[in-house]
Amino acid sequence: MLTKSDFLKYTQCYKYLWLHKYRQDLVSPEAKSALKRIFDEGYEVENYAYKLFPAGVSAYDKDIAEAVAKTKKLVKARQKTIFQPTISNWKVFCRADIIRRYTKSGNWDIYEVKSSTQVKDIHLIDLAFQKICFEENWLKIGKLYVICVNGEFLRRGPIDPKKFLKIVDVTRAVEALIKKVGLDIEMAHKILENKNEPEVKILKQCHSPYDCEFSDHCRKHLPKDSIYGIAGGLSTEKLEMLLDQGILEIKDIPEGIVTNKSGLGYINAVKSKKVFIDSLAIKEELSSLEYPLYFLDYETFGPAVPLFDGYKPYQRIVFQYSLHIKRSPDALLEHYQYLCASIKDPTSELLGSLSKFVGEKGSLISWNKSFEMGCNKEMRERKKQHALFLKSVNDRMYDLMQCFKKGYYVHKDFKGSASIKRVLPVMVPKLSYKDLNIQEGGTASESWLKVNDPKIGQKEKDDLAKDMLAYCRLDTLAMVEILEVLKKL
Ligand code: SF4
Repeated sequence: MLTKSDFLKYTQCYKYLWLHKYRQDLVSPEAKSALKRIFDEGYEVENYAYKLFPAGVSAYDKDIAEAVAKTKKLVKARQKTIFQPTISNWKVFCRADIIRRYTKSGNWDIYEVKSSTQVKDIHLIDLAFQKICFEENWLKIGKLYVICVNGEFLRRGPIDPKKFLKIVDVTRAVEALIKKVGLDIEMAHKILENKNEPEVKILKQCHSPYDCEFSDHCRKHLPKDSIYGIAGGLSTEKLEMLLDQGILEIKDIPEGIVTNKSGLGYINAVKSKKVFIDSLAIKEELSSLEYPLYFLDYETFGPAVPLFDGYKPYQRIVFQYSLHIKRSPDALLEHYQYLCASIKDPTSELLGSLSKFVGEKGSLISWNKSFEMGCNKEMRERKKQHALFLKSVNDRMYDLMQCFKKGYYVHKDFKGSASIKRVLPVMVPKLSYKDLNIQEGGTASESWLKVNDPKIGQKEKDDLAKDMLAYCRLDTLAMVEILEVLKKL
């Protein structure tokens, strides 16, 4: 049977569908937990959508046959709104979020709930699949809607679903897709008849519209310095052209294909096996820094459903900072940190703490400063009493990533990236994220909820908090050490 989620994978990449159906063993635990995060967020939004239909009745059942029977029963009983109606035959399985009978015509409208703030093409395909499945199985469908999150919603008190969500009529756009989706359903069934894993080129579809969880599997045959590592990425046309010629390694890329500065720098570093360093440009770049130097990093959590007043959907809650201070070139390194220990709006506490340590003079240093500056801008809007402090912090913020992004220091092992995770092990081999239990921002973000989850034991919470502090601390210590290396150049 082809389920709705199978079919959506097919529309992204037919190999994705095949692997999803037959090789679940290849999905890493990290990919599984990232998927779970997305699903959990979806369920939360869905619960608010149900509140828009107070008289709705659920047809949900774990057992497919039971869910189908319940749906039929509710339809027969002329129930007006049904949650999680399910249909299935030997060919397809489909569970909608909400269907509602339009009294005059007796047709059913489908409402698909999405946690995004905009309707996307994939949502239309999703609804086209549902319409085809329901119509093939005894329900006449009328209008089609996407219920998504209103990005402009600002929380003030309890959440009103009517303000938090918006309903978008997409009937005409979906109707235009029905024929194609019908043909694609047939094609998807054919792919599933294949005994062997299909061959598909790694292109844009691997990350769009969703990150494919089989990326590691599909990339395992790639050489160390592959054409996919080019900084800034190659266009689909150029990638296809290289792949058609059997070119997979950077060293074999003909001249004229890559034209951007950082991409060319990376290619030269790979081909010459030399490190490229423009020490004059680095000196010039760093000349604006003034002591004391404040190395700052935030950790954030941005839920679809705002947790506190004053937040919009997906707006970042800054729950943690790490701050290293170097008051003069020879001064001892100081370190300060904050981690909010309960689920409450941490902004006042965090800023109260940070403003004690950051003085009126000196440069603030972060990696990819637009992130920290964006957080500061949002906090400034919520906490007017800290507006001057946050403005001054942003005015003095320097982005250490620029030396790498601008291609002043290029090492082939950065793999064309300027991310701190790639730069640190090359520049400062003694420091590594690999030794930490938390190794990336997504896990740190998720951990904040866990640290305050009453279902989790104290020992686990303490360990988690320690891991979070260690992770954030390494982000700022890494900047301190990388700057030292750059200065010596
Ligand atoms: S990684 Fe890319 S090519 Fe491989 S299955 Fe996923 S989408 Fe298809």
